[in-house]
Amino acid sequence: MTDLIAGDWIARNGDTTALRISVCRDCSARWYPPREVCSTCASAELTQTVTGDRGVVYASTVVRVGAAGFDTPYVLSYVDIDGVRVLSHSEGEQALAPDTPVQLTVGAITSGKESHIVRPLIEVASR
Ligand SMILES: [Zn+2]
Repeated sequence: MTDLIAGDWIARNGDTTALRISVCRDCSARWYPPREVCSTCASAELTQTVTGDRGVVYASTVVRVGAAGFDTPYVLSYVDIDGVRVLSHSEGEQALAPDTPVQLTVGAITSGKESHIVRPLIEVASR
């Protein structure tokens, strides 16, 4: 059986994967994971919404000494999606260059566990 990690924060519609986020009505800050109080202005006036399924890489790295329970190596990337910066596992074995366009999907992050991951939308050059 596969566990879906952070499944409450993932919105799936057919083949489309998005993330549930909060948007502050007072200061426009956007938050993932979604929250009930804005960490910028302390307002409780937040709207719950979902992102699109596309983003761009801010930074990426190959993890060779990983957290307990994770098979190495694996790729982690910070990805900007609709105003939130999300830490995500990435498909493949190469770190992704900044500004690489990516698509959100759901995939294995380690044996028996899935979560949101990102898939590069362009071919990643080997290094
Ligand atoms: Zn706010």
